Amino acid sequence: MFVKKDVDVIVVGAGPVGLALASELALAGVSVRVLERRHAPDPAARAQSVNVPTAEALDRRGLLPALERVQRETLGVSGFRFTGHFAGMSLDPGLVDWADPELAAHTAVEGARMIPQPRLEAVLTAHAERLGVTVLRGVEVTSLEDTGAGVLVGTDSGPVHAGWLVGCDGGHSTVRRLAGIPFPGTDPEITGYQAVVDIADPEKLADGWSWSPHGAYRYGPQPGRVVTVEFDGGPADRSAPVTLADVQSSLRRVSGTDVTLTALRAAPTRWTDNTRQASAYRSGRVFLAGDAAHVHPPFGGQGLNLGVGDAVNLGWKLAAVVSGRSPEALLDTYDAERRPVGAWVLDWTRAQTGVLRGDPKSGALRGVLADLLATRDGTTYAVKQIAGVTQRLPLPGSHPWIGRHVPDVPLGNGTRLADHAHEGGFLLLDRTPGAVFGPPAEGRARVVRDDGAGVLGALVRPDGVVAWATDTPDARGLEEALSRWAGRVA
Ligand SMILES: Cc1cc2nc3c(=O)[nH]c(=O)nc-3n(C[C@H](O)[C@H](O)[C@H](O)COP(=O)(O)OP(=O)(O)OC[C@H]3O[C@@H](n4cnc5c(N)ncnc54)[C@H](O)[C@@H]3O)c2cc1C
Repeated sequence: MFVKKDVDVIVVGAGPVGLALASELALAGVSVRVLERRHAPDPAARAQSVNVPTAEALDRRGLLPALERVQRETLGVSGFRFTGHFAGMSLDPGLVDWADPELAAHTAVEGARMIPQPRLEAVLTAHAERLGVTVLRGVEVTSLEDTGAGVLVGTDSGPVHAGWLVGCDGGHSTVRRLAGIPFPGTDPEITGYQAVVDIADPEKLADGWSWSPHGAYRYGPQPGRVVTVEFDGGPADRSAPVTLADVQSSLRRVSGTDVTLTALRAAPTRWTDNTRQASAYRSGRVFLAGDAAHVHPPFGGQGLNLGVGDAVNLGWKLAAVVSGRSPEALLDTYDAERRPVGAWVLDWTRAQTGVLRGDPKSGALRGVLADLLATRDGTTYAVKQIAGVTQRLPLPGSHPWIGRHVPDVPLGNGTRLADHAHEGGFLLLDRTPGAVFGPPAEGRARVVRDDGAGVLGALVRPDGVVAWATDTPDARGLEEALSRWAGRVA
């Protein structure tokens, strides 16, 4: 059946992942429409910690100043060294080996590591709108049919026809269900709450993480921000609205105090450790990204980051196929590259659930880990994992940059390599005296000439992953990387 397309790509969900993906598609010249069932953005206090790949992805699109501004306003600090925690054990910045090459290579985004999710979504919405993305609010997707040539999407406001569809519609994804993609994993043991509240007697709470046989809680770092964790088998009704009384009862149980909460200052969240991953990120013309593809507890602040990583990986690939620059086979690399990263994050959070349990064996394990995390190597290992700087895709080539996110590259003219990525597309860094790498890349990558020291050449994909790099003026492997990833000359 042939049906005229209304738009190249429909993105379902205007959460952070849908907004990031739609922006990447629009930047690459693809027509995109975002369908969002909520009438207004979600004000709930959810994500706050932004990892290095996410901050760098936004930096490449010129959003670093906006993020730095938000962090200054909400946290009162601009540059600070974010460490995070493992199972509530805070990672001491004083113990971290900041000279570790993987950490030292990615410091340009230090001022954009703690951004409340509603503020991040506001930055992403403004970015998407500047790029001409249409976000239709109050539209719920209810059905879909993959015709082989396109996707017919049913909504409560009528049908839409698109070439492709991406479900960025969160953990309870309708798209995942309609596409018949299984979502195997482990069931919840925990009910958790996160809220920002006014407290009558805050002196009854200890700063940072505290444990009791009933669970754990965190107070801070901002005044009034509380997180509770209870091993109660998960909530009976996940859709019931969260009240101040719910947060107070939980906090009283896990703190063993009679602390009194007087008001909610931001919409609270209930969460669990339900941990699942889609068995495929693609079914025909339908893709999943973000929480629609994977859910896990928020320990260590990974979910939004994982989802934005999906968005920037899929965005340029789908745009290249839609515009006919690359064969459809390029799309298979989305699942191949992103599902292993997701599986790792799921296990990183499952490990923390194991350590957080209130039983004596988990308590003993927590003691062992606390000793390891009190060492320079232990803390540095955990901080690198949380920051996302150890991620590496198995791409061909032996240069240490290949498969990794490109490090900070200051250029001789005072700019950084990331400053040249605002318009998307591939970047080719060429530092050879005779400019030998540039000509083969013409039309497929933006060539950035530099006379500074360091690697002589690097091909950087639109998602920041290095596809080729060399320390010698030898272009071997460059053409192969260009044709594999950048496709035909635009
Ligand atoms: C307490 C807590 C703390 C967290 N802390 C962190 C952190 O520090 N760092 C981090 O990286 N992550 C964190 N996370 C995880 C993060 O909040 C999520 O991973 C992130 O919101 C996922 O984004 P998303 O766009 O995939 O999905 P969502 O944010 O869930 O957005 C999905 C959107 O799709 C819409 N939608 C759903 N169904 C339909 C439909 N049928 N039709 C149209 N629209 C639809 C929804 O209304 C929603 O707007 C935390 C989560 C919680 C609960």
